[in-house]
Amino acid sequence: MKKLDVWIVLIVFAVAAAAFALVQHARSTASAPGGYAEVYVKNELVETIDLRTNGRFAVKNEEGYNLLEVEDGGIRMAEADCLSQTCVHAGAKSMGGEIIVCLPNRVVVKIVGAPEGVDTVAN
Ligand SMILES: [Zn+2]
Repeated sequence: MKKLDVWIVLIVFAVAAAAFALVQHARSTASAPGGYAEVYVKNELVETIDLRTNGRFAVKNEEGYNLLEVEDGGIRMAEADCLSQTCVHAGAKSMGGEIIVCLPNRVVVKIVGAPEGVDTVAN
């Protein structure tokens, strides 16, 4: 290989690597930890919780009772009076676009605050 060819290969490789890194960066920011959790009861936003501050938030409505707990940037359903307990077993969520749903109590917790262009594919 001539010296010039080597340089061309190197430059093409560098550009490709940079493009790849940009895509990876975009992907990683898309799934970056969300800053807030929005709490919806019957499709109405009732509370916005800052996930940087640990704490507990009770959500009560005529359907039932839920207790949300924020810890280390994540949020989980610590307690619920629903029969299925699916929401409690869902565990902690911290990524933008993730949700915790308590169907019987009609409570939805949605993680938001991640940068624009969030990839909404849930885990
Ligand atoms: Zn539940």
